[in-house]
Amino acid sequence: MVDLLFLRYFNKLWKRAVWVMGCLILILPASYSQEKMAINKVVIDAGHGGKDPGTVGRRTQEKYVALSIALKLGTLIQRNFRDVEVIYTRDRDRFIELHERAAIANRNKADLFISIHANANNVRTLRGAETYIMGLHRSQANLEIAKLENAAILLEADYTAKYEGFDPNSDESYITFSLYQNSNLESSSRFAAEVQEQMKDRVGLNDRGVRQAGFLVLYKTTMPSVLIEVGYLSNADEENFLISERGQDYIASAIFRAFRSYKNEVESQQKARPLYTSEQTNPPASTTNSEVIFKIQLAASPDKINLSSPRFRGVKGIQMYQHNGMYKYTYGEEVDLEKAKQLQASMQARGFTDAFIVAFRKGERISLDQAKSILGL
Ligand SMILES: [Zn+2]
Repeated sequence: MVDLLFLRYFNKLWKRAVWVMGCLILILPASYSQEKMAINKVVIDAGHGGKDPGTVGRRTQEKYVALSIALKLGTLIQRNFRDVEVIYTRDRDRFIELHERAAIANRNKADLFISIHANANNVRTLRGAETYIMGLHRSQANLEIAKLENAAILLEADYTAKYEGFDPNSDESYITFSLYQNSNLESSSRFAAEVQEQMKDRVGLNDRGVRQAGFLVLYKTTMPSVLIEVGYLSNADEENFLISERGQDYIASAIFRAFRSYKNEVESQQKARPLYTSEQTNPPASTTNSEVIFKIQLAASPDKINLSSPRFRGVKGIQMYQHNGMYKYTYGEEVDLEKAKQLQASMQARGFTDAFIVAFRKGERISLDQAKSILGL
């Protein structure tokens, strides 16, 4: 009898346990996916390779410079982050089709895609680094770079079938990209801005900014992705720098620092502490009633920038906060994301081409995704 009672009790307990586990299984994946903000897998894509030399300088070819920097970057990441898996689209001199590069990143469910290239121009004095994210070009110069890079598909068999009739040399083909919408664009832009900061501050390269254009290699990626033009092989001085061990080490280290800072930012969203200066004229975020506030980030620097610096183009009311060891400068405060987007566009039109939206909750920096989920967007 006692045994029977025990068995009944045990049976009841067991059913309850199964029910609870069932609920947990239903709940856990949902909450886990909301909180997954880790950068654990990065795909590093050395541009060109094999029969495709890329841009040809006087002393080297783009494919060699891209591969050296890619491998150095991967080594730095592996050495410093045991939890990060590095996947190369190529680790030797080999031809890889453009669509396959994106497919490698997608198949591996990478968290970040970094494509490394070097630039060239008929104007041989041009120099400096620029980082591209996917989007419609705003200038003919940006379009020309995309055309140059996309021309690699002409070396692929059946490229018209593989790229749905895309003609890398026709301006019309690029209009397709005007329809391009990607939820990763904000993250791509954030990482791209970090890369440019480091290229300027760490390497001392001329900062040619974050730009947008229709790059086939970025088009189909399903994660934040950038294409970095590390410098101009058509500029003799810059070519010498890009060939040198020291130059390549510096550039790899700059991209690594941008990666580290981006990874930290994504993975620790709650660490921001606003720091207001006496020069600011806008009210601090804490005085408004809204829980979530959007601001437009205009600049970031490891050192303080004077608010009267020409970098701020005479804009009044700029605020500063410290985040991940950097001084970051913002403009405006909006509780409405759409209005923040309008403000971002107006700041971009004023020359802050890489201005992007950042979100704060009770004065603490949070991710845009977090802000959207709080606001139910
Ligand atoms: Zn290239």
